[in-house]
Amino acid sequence: MPPVDVQALLEQHAEFHRVDWPYDDVDAIVIGLATASSKPSVYVRATDNLLRERFTMAHELGHIVLPWHLPAANCSVDEDEFETHDPTIEQQADLFASTLLVPDRWLAGLMNRHADDMTRILQELNSSEVSTAAALQALRRYLLPGWVFEAYGGRSIVATNGTRLPAEQPTSSSLAALASASGDALLNGRTVRWYKFSETVTLPVKAFDDQRTDHEILIAAIASSGAAEDDQAKIAASANGKVGGTLREAAGRPASETYEAMMHKLADWDYASMLGIDDFRLWLAQKATAIEIGQTKRRR
Ligand SMILES: [Zn+2]
Repeated sequence: MPPVDVQALLEQHAEFHRVDWPYDDVDAIVIGLATASSKPSVYVRATDNLLRERFTMAHELGHIVLPWHLPAANCSVDEDEFETHDPTIEQQADLFASTLLVPDRWLAGLMNRHADDMTRILQELNSSEVSTAAALQALRRYLLPGWVFEAYGGRSIVATNGTRLPAEQPTSSSLAALASASGDALLNGRTVRWYKFSETVTLPVKAFDDQRTDHEILIAAIASSGAAEDDQAKIAASANGKVGGTLREAAGRPASETYEAMMHKLADWDYASMLGIDDFRLWLAQKATAIEIGQTKRRR
């Protein structure tokens, strides 16, 4: 449960030193990672930003516990710009730090308690004792497509992967115009605005006497769309490809949340007109429900 005592964790694995040094382009140094006989040493630059130092400590712990990391590192820690796809060693350490300080399981609990009430979720994030930038990156890491956050008086806009943003530089008013819901909360004493882009929709449920497999439902949906027979396999493959990424992220989440995220993400798909077909929405709902109950892919 946050706040994670990151200094205690780091001291289990390293000699920890908080030091004054004049170079503000290096936040921390770790040395002696490769020597089995003694603990590595971590030097963290003392600053007046303790939330950022907590992230730096967690980042250095990442270098120590991720076994393929280099024997030494000079770190300029970037708590607001890591990538989760094909990350470098530094980005891996940032991702480790984010996941340690704001654990997925804790976020899942907040989502279960507060559902779509992002104001309450942001308020609870105060207890993780991370910077606003790090908190928003944790939400970006965890949440499905359809969420946007605005912080630092509009200078920072963070959207979850797969969210469809306006083409031009978004502003508070353009975001509010597109959102199905919005609100704000204080995070570390500053206002963060949130926008929910996905629509709140009811999950379609399969009729009790509907014996079709998911694949049969998808094929029926495509056939009723009027697509040429030659195109049907291509549309089916495209649909599976489009939802696959979201489904991998969505394991164990409520089906309605996954369904809303997929509906949002698919609105700019080449075959977005499929969203108007009942059987297609039923197919999406079946996929979202299978993920909620942890059903894995069956192969025949
Ligand atoms: Zn580093």
